[in-house]
Amino acid sequence: MRIRRPSRITLRQLVLVLSIGSVLTMLVAGMAGSYRIQRDQLMEDTLAANQAFAEKLAASVSDLLTQAQDGLAYSAKRIIQSGMDPAVLQSEADRLRAQGVGFNAVSVTSSRGLIITTSPETLAIKGRQVKPPVPLPALQHQAAMISSPFTTILGNLAIRVTQPLRTDSKQYLGYMSGTIYLKADGGLARLIGQHYFRNDTYVYVVDDTRHLLHHPDSNRIGTEVTFPNPAIDTVLQGLSGAQRIVNSQGIDMLAGFSYVPAAKWGIVVQRPTQATLARLDDLMHRTLWLSLIPAGLLLTVLWFLSGWVSRPLGELALIVQDGYKDSMAGRIRSVPCWYFEAQRLQRALLLGLGTVEAQLGQLHDEAYQDPLTGLGNRRGLRLALQTFQTMDQAFTVITLDIDFFKRINDTYGHDTGDEVIRQIGDWMRTQARESDALFRMGGEEFLALLPGTHLDTAAGIAERLRAGIEQANILPGEIVTVSIGVAAWSPEDATDTTSALKAADQALYRAKQTGRNRVVVSDDSAAQT
Ligand code: GH3
Ligand code: MG
Ligand code: MG
Repeated sequence: MRIRRPSRITLRQLVLVLSIGSVLTMLVAGMAGSYRIQRDQLMEDTLAANQAFAEKLAASVSDLLTQAQDGLAYSAKRIIQSGMDPAVLQSEADRLRAQGVGFNAVSVTSSRGLIITTSPETLAIKGRQVKPPVPLPALQHQAAMISSPFTTILGNLAIRVTQPLRTDSKQYLGYMSGTIYLKADGGLARLIGQHYFRNDTYVYVVDDTRHLLHHPDSNRIGTEVTFPNPAIDTVLQGLSGAQRIVNSQGIDMLAGFSYVPAAKWGIVVQRPTQATLARLDDLMHRTLWLSLIPAGLLLTVLWFLSGWVSRPLGELALIVQDGYKDSMAGRIRSVPCWYFEAQRLQRALLLGLGTVEAQLGQLHDEAYQDPLTGLGNRRGLRLALQTFQTMDQAFTVITLDIDFFKRINDTYGHDTGDEVIRQIGDWMRTQARESDALFRMGGEEFLALLPGTHLDTAAGIAERLRAGIEQANILPGEIVTVSIGVAAWSPEDATDTTSALKAADQALYRAKQTGRNRVVVSDDSAAQT
C-alpha cells in the first residue's frame, strides 16, 4: 500500500529558489573571478612599477656618487700639483662643497690622520685627529672609498666619499673626503626626495652591512636591519627585481629593488599590498552595489515568470487537492494550459478522471449492488475505497445502524423489516450528492463515503439524516431511529482507508452505547446528538 505525505513545496518556490540560486552563484563566482584576475594584475603592475622606480633611483644615486668621486679626484690632483698649498686646499674644499653633488662638508686629512682643512671652515674640527672606526679604512687602504654610515665628530649621521692624495712618485699624503649627511638636508635625502612618488609608496636604501642610509622614518637611519628580509637579501647579492615580502613590522609589501654597484648599496621601493588592493576593494564594492539594480530587475522578472510558468500546474494541483467533485472535469478543462507539459498533464488528469468515473460507474453494476436497496454492496465499497486511495482522495465515512431493528422484525415481520431497510436506503439517496457513494453493509447497516467533505460538514449531513429519518414516519405507529458514526480519511494521515472505517464503527458503537438515535463523530470531543 502506498502511504506517503504530500509535499508542501510548490513549483513556483522551486523555480524561484533555483533561479535566484543560479543568479547569486553566477554573480558571486563572476565577482570572485574578476577580483582575482584584477588583484593579480594590480600586484604585478605595482611590483613592476616599484622595480622600475628602484632602478631609476639606483641610476641617479650612481650618477651622484660618480660625480662626487670625479669631483674629489679632480680636486685631489690640483692639490697635489699645488704641493699641498693651504690656500689651494681651502679653495678646492670650498669649491667642491658648492658644486652641488650633495656634499654637506668637505675636508682634507693628512696621512697621520690630522684634519688640515675643512669646508665650511666653521666646522671647528680643523687640527683634530680623526677617530676610529670609520675614517680609518681610508687611511689603511689608501684608496678611493665610500664609507658605511657613521656619526661625525659633530654628531651628524653621514657617509663619506674619500679620495687618496698621492704624488706622482706614489707617496701617500693623506686623503680628501666629502661628507654626505644622511638625515635632514643631506644630499642623498635630497636626491631621493626629488623623486617624489605618489600614494603610500616609500623608498629606503641599505648598504652592504644592512645599515639603513635612507628611510622615511628618520629614526631608523643608521640602524641595522636584523630582521630577515628577502628583498634586502636579494638586492645585496647585486640583483634587481621585485618580490612580495613581509617586512620587519610584519606588513605585507610589494617591493621592487635595484643595486648600486659603485657603493654596494641596495635601493628598495615598496608599497603595502593592502594599500595597493584598497582601491580594488572599493571598486568591487561599487560594482556590487551597481549590480544590485539589474539583479533586482532580474528577480522581479523571475518572480512574474515563475508565476506565469507555474500557474497552470498550480491550478491543476489545487483542483486535485480540492478532491473529487462533480464539477471536476469542467474545472480541469478551464485551466489555461499554454505549454506542452501542462497540456499533457491536463489531458492525463481528464483521462484519469474518466477512468475513475468509469470505475465508480461500475458501482451501478448488479455485481456491486445490494438487490434490496439498490445501493452498493460490500464489493462495491471495496472498489470505491481502492479508487479513493489511488486518487489520494480525502473523504469522510458515515456508518448508520437502525436502532432496535430486531424488535421491528419481531413485531411486524421480516417483510416489513425489509421495507424499513429499503426506505432508509431511499432516505439516504435523497440526502446524498452525486459524488457520494452509498452502501448497505448487510443487515440493517449502511455506509456512505463523502469525497472531499470535511468532518464538520459530514457531521452536519449525518445529523440531518438522523433527524430526517426520525421524523419520516417510515413505519406508522413506530418511530424508527438510527445511530450514526462519522470519521474522516485523508492521504496526509498516512494510514490505510480501512482505519477510517474502523473509526466510524467505533463512533457508531459509542452512539449505541450512549443511548442510540444520535450522531457520534470519531474523536470523542466532537460528539453530537
Ligand atoms: P441495535 O442495533 O439498536 O443494538 O439493536 P438491533 O436490534 O438493531 O440489533 P442488531 O443490529 O444486532 O440486529 C440486527 C437484526 O437485523 C438481526 C437480524 O435478524 C436482522 N436482519 C439482518 N438482515 C436482515 C434483512 O435482510 N432483513 C430483515 N428484515 N432483517 C434482517
Ligand atoms: Mg440495529
Ligand atoms: Mg446491526
